[in-house]
Amino acid sequence: MNDNIKTAMVGTPCQILAATKINKYSEKTGGSSIDIKIGLFCMENFSYTYLKKFLTEKDININEVEGFRIEENKFKVLLKNNDMFTVPLSETDSFKRKNCDICLDYTSDISDISIGSLGSPKGWSTVIIRTEKGKEIIENAENEGYFETKEISDKGKKIIEKIASKKIEKNLENINVREKVSRPVLYTRNISDEEIEDISSKCQFDNLESDVISEGACVLCGACEYVCPIDIVEIDDRKPQKFGECKEDCHACYYACPRTFLSKNVLGYNFKAKPLGEYIDIISVRSNKIKGQDGAAVTSILIYLLEKNLVDNVSIVGEDEEISWKPVSRLTNDVEEVKKAAGTKYSTVPIGFKALE
Ligand code: SF4
Ligand code: SF4
Ligand code: SF4
Repeated sequence: MNDNIKTAMVGTPCQILAATKINKYSEKTGGSSIDIKIGLFCMENFSYTYLKKFLTEKDININEVEGFRIEENKFKVLLKNNDMFTVPLSETDSFKRKNCDICLDYTSDISDISIGSLGSPKGWSTVIIRTEKGKEIIENAENEGYFETKEISDKGKKIIEKIASKKIEKNLENINVREKVSRPVLYTRNISDEEIEDISSKCQFDNLESDVISEGACVLCGACEYVCPIDIVEIDDRKPQKFGECKEDCHACYYACPRTFLSKNVLGYNFKAKPLGEYIDIISVRSNKIKGQDGAAVTSILIYLLEKNLVDNVSIVGEDEEISWKPVSRLTNDVEEVKKAAGTKYSTVPIGFKALE
């Protein structure tokens, strides 16, 4: 890794958590170039393979899909011929990732800035400012005319709190049920930095497999693949696998994984008491440069960061050039490419850290 490169990362809450762990334990993991973390609101996520299978069973060719939306408790598929296929969210179980059932973070609580559409009027994004760095970015980008902001309404804020609390309560129940028949969901056990060191410094990929992957807790973030110094981890749409023997004294993947133990200093508060985590302010943002989509706040911030040379590159999610809707992550410093990647693909399917390699 080149220490001078700075990257702005956009990711789901679990990916942001992985990025935080990679950098916090950089002596063990090798660190990353991620300097600014932009987290997305995330209720749940879907497997590309099973989503495609589900659509095929409904006689929908994934190549004919224009976009996906989750709105009003429904999963909506907009087709290129402008038809809309809609199913209740409760019917998405066949392609929903099971690991999302035990996720307690709705609003990317440890990012610099969290962004979603919930809580703001149509055409506006909700932005939660969490750190001084995030605050400076938002204030300066607004002053430079990248977007306008306004206070979020009380009603809007309450809706986000309600949905976040709903996710937390439902998934705490799921964790309870899971732990009665299976092993503990490790990341919910906030322990001290010393305990983390004590446990993680004895663990390698086989422990990751037994503690996380075979327990259905893997979020497919790709952090284990990214940090492996000898490249023996490969990750596909289903799970990470190891091809070869681990390096002696390496524990990088166990330290980096967002579903192994978490230190109290990373995400150590009571989710139920603070469903939106710690934050400085919550506002609504509307882009002045890009029109008509919820992703405009993310896109505008990335463009601002690139145009003002505040980062060297940004991580974006685009479509695979040959396979429709199969997401691929890449780094870019090209503003036009950022504009092209705008939209809800950011949250359709989890991606990895491959782009940083
Ligand atoms: S585990 Fe699932 S619900 Fe949680 S942040 Fe990741 S993709 Fe979203
Ligand atoms: S060498 Fe083994 S323990 Fe180290 S990161 Fe790779 S898979 Fe994990
Ligand atoms: S096992 Fe690997 S891909 Fe799965 S959550 Fe942990 S780091 Fe991410």
